[in-house]
Amino acid sequence: MRLWRKLRWRIFGSHLIVVVTGVACLLLTTEIIISNRALTAIQPRLTALTQAKDAVDVELALAALQETYHNTLLFSLLIAAIGATLAGGVTSLLLTTGIIRPLQQIAQSSRRIAGGHYAERVEISDIEELDSVATNFNQMAAALEQVEQQRVALIGNVSHELRTPLTGIEGYLQGMMDGLMPSDAQTFAQMYQEVRRLRRLVDDLQALSRVEAGQIPLHLERFDLSPVVERVIKQLQPQAMAQSLTISTKCPGSVSVYADPDRSAQVLVNLIGNAIRYTPDGGNIKVTVVTSKFVEIAVQDNGQGIPPEALPYIFERFYRVDQSRSRSSGGSGIGLTISRHLAWAMGGELIATSEGEGQGSTFYFLLPKV
Ligand code: ADP
Repeated sequence: MRLWRKLRWRIFGSHLIVVVTGVACLLLTTEIIISNRALTAIQPRLTALTQAKDAVDVELALAALQETYHNTLLFSLLIAAIGATLAGGVTSLLLTTGIIRPLQQIAQSSRRIAGGHYAERVEISDIEELDSVATNFNQMAAALEQVEQQRVALIGNVSHELRTPLTGIEGYLQGMMDGLMPSDAQTFAQMYQEVRRLRRLVDDLQALSRVEAGQIPLHLERFDLSPVVERVIKQLQPQAMAQSLTISTKCPGSVSVYADPDRSAQVLVNLIGNAIRYTPDGGNIKVTVVTSKFVEIAVQDNGQGIPPEALPYIFERFYRVDQSRSRSSGGSGIGLTISRHLAWAMGGELIATSEGEGQGSTFYFLLPKV
């Protein structure tokens, strides 16, 4: 039964049926003709041959015998040919229907998908080769459907993100026009904050589209990671001090990696910046560098943590555990998406772990070691 699922065995089987039917028809007709018609037709010829009186009679009887033999053979072959043709017709009809129907369905579904009906799927065939074509087709359709859903979601997210600062700016302008707000430095400073938020969002979006399209130029080289880690911590220290956070580092003297130094620093700024942003005042942040199969930089905080149900989505665009809180603190929810793409582009990885809400989080940034 398993063999019958394979197309090549089906084709071989159908050819075999045609041959067997032809041979069976030939044998059967010959048998029937010899046992019935042929005997009655040949008998008088043989009798005529035995009773022949001269050479002319023998010749006539032989000719008649030859004709009977010829007709019998021709008739048998004709019946065999008709039998084989019928068998060939029926088997090829069954076979081609089994092959053509799924192929037609795939052609029809691909036209519908091209027309925007991404939920379209084809039936799985009982022929193994076509079954794998149909399965791959359905997987491709599912991937396209997901891409389309992401595209729609992206437009929704971008417009939602743009709306918040725009509404703010609109409110300030309206207030000033109606004389409800003073046109002073403080109002302009608040408007400036909203404009900066817009600018950051647009920059993040541009970086995201470039990183997702693999268009960020990377300058991969061998370098010592330790000074890069120190530089990033120094850069973020004022922010940490403003929240009374302590940043401690555990890093071997020199750690050789093969990556892009600027992009590695960008990922570290995102991770340590997040640790600062999502850790309440007085908390601790630990940055540890260890070397195993990869060079692993662990950024651990004892902040608000990430609930287990949110962990799988943490690297998705615009995903924030607490939408309103992150947005008010200036987060666009794109930073980790960009960071993970950068880590991948450098042959590394970015992993998030957390024991749960209020338990702190640890992000592991892996880079290829030299
Ligand atoms: P954002 O700009 O909003 O910080 P990210 O992509 O960097 O965007 O982070 C996505 C979300 O992941 C954040 O909004 C936050 O909810 C969560 N997150 C990231 N880092 C941490 C952390 N160290 N502790 C708790 N939550 C975090």
